[in-house]
Amino acid sequence: MQYKRVLLKLSGEALMGNRQYGIDPERLSEYAKEIKQVVNNGIEVAIVIGGGNIFRGVAGEGNGMDRVQGDHMGMLATCINGLALQSALEDEGVHTRLQTALEIKEVAEPYIKRKAIRHLEKGRVVIFGAGTGNPYFTTDTAAVLRAIEVNADAILKGTRVDGIYTSDPEKNKDAIKFENITFKEVLDKGLKVMDMTAFTLSEENKLPIIVFDMNKKGNLVKLLSGEKIGTVVDN
Ligand code: UDP
Repeated sequence: MQYKRVLLKLSGEALMGNRQYGIDPERLSEYAKEIKQVVNNGIEVAIVIGGGNIFRGVAGEGNGMDRVQGDHMGMLATCINGLALQSALEDEGVHTRLQTALEIKEVAEPYIKRKAIRHLEKGRVVIFGAGTGNPYFTTDTAAVLRAIEVNADAILKGTRVDGIYTSDPEKNKDAIKFENITFKEVLDKGLKVMDMTAFTLSEENKLPIIVFDMNKKGNLVKLLSGEKIGTVVDN
């Protein structure tokens, strides 16, 4: 097995399934089943989940809301998703902990790196909520940050697209998929993988990013069994 400990980044939007807003319980349950299989295969899994299905700080700003206030709402949205995912995983019998970067200690543990690592070693899935705990950041940046902190071997970015293409495959049918690409090539070609803060943090810390389609059943398990799924960004 190539990876022993991974950080899975799920966007909030992915949880919507075919809905326009909020959480699709079926989608959540499919994710939980996949994650369970990976855990049963002996892989340690940490998860960062976004909040875009509920609230994004920039959306608030567009409606005249203070950005920081909006970002606080966005971070709380990630905690709501984290709780939903925790519940779905526990329904599958997977042991979990939710740790949040903003304290809501009646609901979840505060983020403590050493505790997170201990949970992972014990085979518990650790979900990190509230992003980095700071406004003006994204959950992609939180995902890279936590992955580096807990020494994950890679960050797995689950998206709707099955990898990185020469151009947007949803708009251009001639777009070609990369199996492997370097951080430098991504920058030189102006491709978009994550926001720049997240991407640079990953590059500087030599943390590989794997972009793959999380909505295709079995993909996560296949990827972690060594099959060539998605695109690997590496140094
Ligand atoms: N957010 C933040 N700081 C962080 C992470 C997230 O302020 O460290 C806020 C921000 O407003 C963001 C929202 O939480 O718009 C939801 O996160 P994101 O947009 O990254 O979620 P995704 O697009 O993955 O669903």
